[in-house]
Amino acid sequence: MPTDDNSVPVVLTIAGFDPSGGAGLLADARTLVACGCRPVAAITSLTFQNSEKLFGTIHQSAASLRDQILPIVNEFKIAVVKIGMLPTRELVSEVVRLLGETGMPAPVVDPVLCSSSGYELMELEAREAWLSDLMPLARLITPNIPEAETLTGTGIKNESEMAAAAHLLREQGARAVLIKGGHLPELRSEAIDLLNDEDTVTIFRGDWIRARRLRGTGCMLSSAIAAGLAHGESLGDSVGAAKRFVATAIRAAPFS
Ligand code: PLP
Repeated sequence: MPTDDNSVPVVLTIAGFDPSGGAGLLADARTLVACGCRPVAAITSLTFQNSEKLFGTIHQSAASLRDQILPIVNEFKIAVVKIGMLPTRELVSEVVRLLGETGMPAPVVDPVLCSSSGYELMELEAREAWLSDLMPLARLITPNIPEAETLTGTGIKNESEMAAAAHLLREQGARAVLIKGGHLPELRSEAIDLLNDEDTVTIFRGDWIRARRLRGTGCMLSSAIAAGLAHGESLGDSVGAAKRFVATAIRAAPFS
């Protein structure tokens, strides 16, 4: 039976498990709690990693993902869904099926393509299914620059190329695209993020903060956006607050 206590919104994160907690499900859960939500979670892949390196993965089957998600959906009213690592085509298709069957709200989807240590986290076939089948169902997708370059097949070196890539992803079926500009080569004074929400473009400017020893900032940002939406805030306000949340976490981290 779905519970009716709406005081703390429940957010479902569908993500990879990083035992070190730097990225993935544990980073999502930490962020969601800090942002006043109750996390519930399903694991797409058990990864073996620490802060330095990713050593390997055991991906879950579609059946495992289904068996994790259905009991949660039957018990809780899910306010928002946040989706991260989806390594296989099978898992992408299962998420698409589950979203359709359960009537869960349109998710915030972070395209997790590769670890910062260079390990592939999404197979090519999965990426194709992600673009054609999952992206159009998302409330928002949150690629960083390298991810947006891979997804669009274009190079991105400045703000106007960010806008063009976001527009391209909109044409490919995305409802809203947030391109995170932290990796832009030209800029080292400010961090620019560009939101294209149904063709309304908003630029978020923040200070660029010198690299710290902190992984999982993408997971944190998309989870904090999901938390804002779960509290009933607009997408733009959720993105602004999430950016401030992540900036605070980066400032608090040790230098690399
Ligand atoms: N592992 C998991 C489970 C992730 O979800 C992600 C990114 O979202 C990563 C690793 C990569 O994180 P990083 O690029 O911070 O190493």
